[in-house]
Amino acid sequence: MRRILNFSSGPATLPPSVLEEASRGVLEIAGSGMSILEVSHRGGVYEDIHRRARAGCLKAMGLSPEAYTVLFLGGGASQQFAMVPMNFLRPGASADYVDGGEWGARAAKEARLFGGVRIAASSEAARHAELPRDFRWDPGAAYAHVTTNNTIEGTQMRFLPEAPTPLVVDASSDFLGHTMDWGRASLVYAGAQKNAGPAGVTIVVARKSFLERARTDVPTMLSYAVHAQADSLYNTPPVFPVYVLSLVLEWVEAQGGTAALGARNERKAALVYAALDAHPDVYEPAVARPADRSWMNITWRLRDPRREEAFLKGAAARGMQGLKGHRSVGGLRASVYNAFPEEGCAALAQYLAEFARGV
Ligand SMILES: *Cc1c(COP(=O)(O)O)cnc(C)c1O
Repeated sequence: MRRILNFSSGPATLPPSVLEEASRGVLEIAGSGMSILEVSHRGGVYEDIHRRARAGCLKAMGLSPEAYTVLFLGGGASQQFAMVPMNFLRPGASADYVDGGEWGARAAKEARLFGGVRIAASSEAARHAELPRDFRWDPGAAYAHVTTNNTIEGTQMRFLPEAPTPLVVDASSDFLGHTMDWGRASLVYAGAQKNAGPAGVTIVVARKSFLERARTDVPTMLSYAVHAQADSLYNTPPVFPVYVLSLVLEWVEAQGGTAALGARNERKAALVYAALDAHPDVYEPAVARPADRSWMNITWRLRDPRREEAFLKGAAARGMQGLKGHRSVGGLRASVYNAFPEEGCAALAQYLAEFARGV
């Protein structure tokens, strides 16, 4: 099989070595005489995978198992938009939300179903083409919610802001993309399918003392307390996605962890941004400020939008796919998560230069 350069924003490209190992696991897992698709989630084979995935998450994030719990849940990151306020926002209380783009706005929308929402910072005036600045936190808020990487708009906060209340982070599209000070967060969630595995599992990493504050008068399947108490085995967990996640976490460690991945991701993104910036007559990067530019999702437009189709056609002819921007903003987007190869970024940079010169 000739692998294409898959710039898709998610589900996204995975390391070939992980795909090979996972395909072996589909035939037989751990000498059990069964496929990973066939094993019980209550048996030893899966238990071992579950435990390794949990430990691998904490290790990659630099967190201690004494202070933090890892949950593997269904429903995508979008379900966390509702679970967070359902569990932590009580009537009459309010939570702070940072509005850096569409995903953060969706999270805030769900929270309004359960209590008050204050926008602590917004980049709406800049049409989300930069990161929100001037955080105005409410010290009485139940929690403060931020989205680290704005997948659609192409901005990325590579730090965690200091909030006076428990910090809740949607890290779906840059989870383990570089080293972060996760010890400042009370709850982090990420749909696996951008940077950590296949669709079907959402990773939730939470400080135990924060989880203790969760409401218990919520539906069972939407209760953090229930899932934490059952170690994510209250019901059948997404066995196969957790298995692939465990393989990705081993791959992350073999790459040198998030420090090495962060350095590589910065280099990869720089290749593409440099090619865009070299031809301002042809390309308009969506995000101007280098510090705000995402290393995961690079967004731009053609000065002449009529040439977009020709651009995508030329890309496809070079084996590059998934470069169309999100339907809500249009334009072009290259998603270059952890597993996206550096050579792929170099190939895109070369194509950008050739297209600009009309080659
Ligand atoms: C993709 C994405 C989501 C939604 O994820 P689902 O798993 O599809 O629900 C939420 N937040 C961010 C930042 C994302 O990139």
